[in-house]
Amino acid sequence: MGWLEGYVAAITGGANGIGLAVARRYLAEGAAGVAILDRDTSGIATLSDAFPGRVTAIAGDVRDPASHSALIGSAVENHGRLDVLVGNAGVFDFRRPLASYEAGSLGETFDEIFGINLKGYMLAALAARDALSQTGGSMIFTGSVASQYAGGGGILYTAAKHAIVGFIRELARELAPSIRVNGVGPGGTLTSLRGTAALGQQDRSLADNREQLEARLSAAVPLRFAQRPEDHCGLYVLLASRENSPAVTGEMYMSDGGVGIRPL
Ligand code: NAD
Repeated sequence: MGWLEGYVAAITGGANGIGLAVARRYLAEGAAGVAILDRDTSGIATLSDAFPGRVTAIAGDVRDPASHSALIGSAVENHGRLDVLVGNAGVFDFRRPLASYEAGSLGETFDEIFGINLKGYMLAALAARDALSQTGGSMIFTGSVASQYAGGGGILYTAAKHAIVGFIRELARELAPSIRVNGVGPGGTLTSLRGTAALGQQDRSLADNREQLEARLSAAVPLRFAQRPEDHCGLYVLLASRENSPAVTGEMYMSDGGVGIRPL
């Protein structure tokens, strides 16, 4: 018996990386259905094959409110209810400092990073609120080590990931007692997280040099291993489960290899 028997989840950015691993784990924990919104849904095929009839894919952009209506609508229509929203789609700034921008590129990149990484979460929350209040469900948002520390991203990514902590706290207060709202903050993880179109880096990915990435990530954290998407999934299961985290709301749990205990 899994921890999420009969649950239905909606996940943004669930076609790759951390979101895809969470979808797979939710289904393995007994979820009745998972609806996924992603701008590139090609990565979902193997998941749909492994769990026939339990996966729905919506192609769309998280900056578009209509995509979220379609996501929540498909979860409820195809699977009957909604128990958990996972806001997760994101893009990276490859640690660019403020000084590397001029005003125009700063504005465009701000709009893209905050539009996807923060507004995308708010639009998802807005669309999912009614369906989740009917089931006493919960929301989980993917933050980052950059939600808590400097150096995990550049000026825009870190600012957006810090803002997610404030968003989670405020929304948890607003939606209590009917919906719990929490976050998971992964450290550097072996995924193909991409850059922004504003900087012409939409095809650049963290995984472009996977061996180098793995070596750098494992050297950087006290637990000395490069995290895989699967390493974070237990927290997403725990926070989704009414039985196992009924009193948890407004929190961001770090899953970062121990960055906070790194010696000065
Ligand atoms: P990923 O690229 O494997 O997954 C992100 C998914 O989001 C992709 O499938 C992508 O197509 C989708 N996406 C991006 N922009 C979108 C948009 N505008 N509309 C719809 N879908 C969109 O990367 P990942 O590392 O799994 O990233 C997932 C989350 O984890 C992000 O929020 C990221 O910031 C966060 N995170 C990643 C790391 C890391 O090191 N990989 C560390 C901390 C936090």
